[in-house]
Amino acid sequence: MGTQFWNFSAGPAVLPKPVLEQAAAEMLDWRGSGMSVMEMSHRGAEFTQICDEAEDDLRTLLGISDDYAVIFMQGGATAENAIVPMNLIARNPSNSADYVLTGSWSVKSHKEAQRYGNARVAAAADTDRQIDGVTYGAWSWVPPLDSWQVQPDASYLHYCSNETIGGVEIAQMPDMQALGVPDVPLVLDASSHFLSRPLDVSRTGMVYAGAQKNAGPAGVTMVIVRRDMLGHALACTPSAFDYVNVAKERSRYNTPPSYGIYICGLVFKWLLQLGGLAEIEKRNLAKSRALYAQIDSSDFYANPIQPAFRSRMNVPFTLASEQLTSQFLKEAAQHHLLALKGHKSVGGVRASIYNAMPMEGVTTLIDFMKEFERTHG
Ligand code: PLP
Repeated sequence: MGTQFWNFSAGPAVLPKPVLEQAAAEMLDWRGSGMSVMEMSHRGAEFTQICDEAEDDLRTLLGISDDYAVIFMQGGATAENAIVPMNLIARNPSNSADYVLTGSWSVKSHKEAQRYGNARVAAAADTDRQIDGVTYGAWSWVPPLDSWQVQPDASYLHYCSNETIGGVEIAQMPDMQALGVPDVPLVLDASSHFLSRPLDVSRTGMVYAGAQKNAGPAGVTMVIVRRDMLGHALACTPSAFDYVNVAKERSRYNTPPSYGIYICGLVFKWLLQLGGLAEIEKRNLAKSRALYAQIDSSDFYANPIQPAFRSRMNVPFTLASEQLTSQFLKEAAQHHLLALKGHKSVGGVRASIYNAMPMEGVTTLIDFMKEFERTHG
């Protein structure tokens, strides 16, 4: 066996090894078809089976009812930031939607939506905030869910349920009844924690996620949208980005990212075999608890996020100086611990520990952190 590397990249991320092995075994000839999945007609019987099975397995994993369309698209979550308002912002005559800003990704979503309608801000964590006697910096905390200012005429309320760069995760959903807006549907950018834990889709209007963290290779965007919200696309919406068209053709309105969908399908089956999202949540909880415990165990490392909203998937932490951080990253790479550099906008270190990262990888990182503190502390 070769050297064991551990890849902590925020994305594209590692995929489960059994999935890659199966894909390798089937690469040239998919199950006696004489073709690679890459070479198949997207309208042929084989790919129809692959694509429909992927959709069905995703429905099973998340318990998604037929009230929702489940579609595989292209363009990533960035394109979806535009495709969402194109399809949904005109649901109400106000042509308005409300956005909660908790970090880089939700800020980007909001900015993009302004091109298509009246995209308002329902809450923002863009300043310092004192909570329980501790001061948290901008984008390190979450405005209390019962303080979000959602307007009844909003076509939807958008938030990013896991801010990949900041490491802020909003696992609870706001109680829209208590906020006085029971009819405003939630729209979640769940890209970086999708399929890492159970998610009650029935409490949302829509969930979208790029595949390249937990679900498959870059190039596939998963969209789950309540069917009764559809049919209000703006006239400028490209036909290939109109959810009605894509849903009607079960993701094959035009040529879909077929190989990517196939890999996503293998990942869904891997998750189902493990025991589903409850089981993967257990594993993710154990990994993130161990890593945060190490960070919290001394003053050498620090995580700046309001504890209730610390991400299980993206764990940013800082060291005392930039010089020490560079040394940490350099020595980590020498120990085959890869891609730990924090995003350029925030610096520091970030360990992304998605589904495919086993506990062993996290333990190896923790052991390295202990040793680095011993030798440089
Ligand atoms: N939203 C979140 C939460 C992300 O983490 C990312 C990328 O990392 C994006 C949106 C943008 O995704 P893409 O690069 O696939 O457009």
